[in-house]
Amino acid sequence: MIDLRSDTVTQPTPAMLDVMHRAATGDDVYGEDPTVNELERFAAALTGKEAAVFAPTGTQSNLIGLLSHCQRGHEYIVGHSAHTYMYEGGGAAVLGGIQPCPLPFASDGSLPLDDVERAIKPDDAHFAITRLLCLENTQAGKVLPLDYLERFSALARRHGLRRHLDGARVFNAAVAQDVPVAQICQHFDTVSICLSKGLACPVGSLLVGDQESIRSARRWRKMLGGGMRQAGILAAAGLYALQHNVERLREDHHKAAKVAEALVTSTSIRLREEPQTNMVMLADDMVIAPLQQHLLDAGIRISGHRWVFHQDVSEDDVDRLLDACRRFA
Ligand SMILES: *Cc1c(COP(=O)(O)O)cnc(C)c1O
Repeated sequence: MIDLRSDTVTQPTPAMLDVMHRAATGDDVYGEDPTVNELERFAAALTGKEAAVFAPTGTQSNLIGLLSHCQRGHEYIVGHSAHTYMYEGGGAAVLGGIQPCPLPFASDGSLPLDDVERAIKPDDAHFAITRLLCLENTQAGKVLPLDYLERFSALARRHGLRRHLDGARVFNAAVAQDVPVAQICQHFDTVSICLSKGLACPVGSLLVGDQESIRSARRWRKMLGGGMRQAGILAAAGLYALQHNVERLREDHHKAAKVAEALVTSTSIRLREEPQTNMVMLADDMVIAPLQQHLLDAGIRISGHRWVFHQDVSEDDVDRLLDACRRFA
């Protein structure tokens, strides 16, 4: 089976399993797991931050990030289809009493700064207290321009607001822009990074940021049940991924670009836009069900309009996919 539903479906490679097998471990709740400590140090240095905390999922690392910035009665401004707002069970509101202020994303995945500025509340007892601005990068496979991040950051500074990035796929953005990931992360107080997407770990995410935010996030992680013990087995996979799998993301981008070009030139399948990273987005008005069944019969799984390329889709798989698509056309 070729599985294009998500980049979360990857299996650990023998090399990754080997470092997991050999990982030195200790009780991480006591701060004594050397591999977790090494992963957190490595991730902080790589992203240009003071500190990092290892979490089981990106949902949790986003949540502890939001909880470290905001208290009950605070508000955060976020995209209306952002993962933190739409796909995390309303955790910030349920568990933190943090009110979301969702705004539509622009077609490039950014939040228009005029809209953000209008949504920031004045100091008035009628309103929740605006405290945090939240972006996503990549957003639906799209990379936020660096000059936009500069202007976003300046806006947050002007209003004394904190900045969080849902960087589940921030390494895809860095690779696509050919910049060190720290150049993106510098515009945020905290960044949540998924190890279990294109970086191909079985489990794990990191929240990186300043000492004080990460200390607070670590406290919240424990309260949420995310304090893990001999987590070095998982951290070893994370460390391996950050050291070996970042540049590999280019291959996923290349596969997506190749598929997009072939679909446009040799099939009737239409795209919403050209891919920037590892996702091919079909035109919204494409009727998916017949294509989905046709591909399933050819041993290819898709879940809808978003096709995601990852480590476990080989160049041969790409050719098989394109053959199947041409037969559909
Ligand atoms: C996958 C993802 C997350 C985190 O998801 P988990 O499944 O909880 O690890 C957060 N944000 C975005 C944009 C994601 O794609």
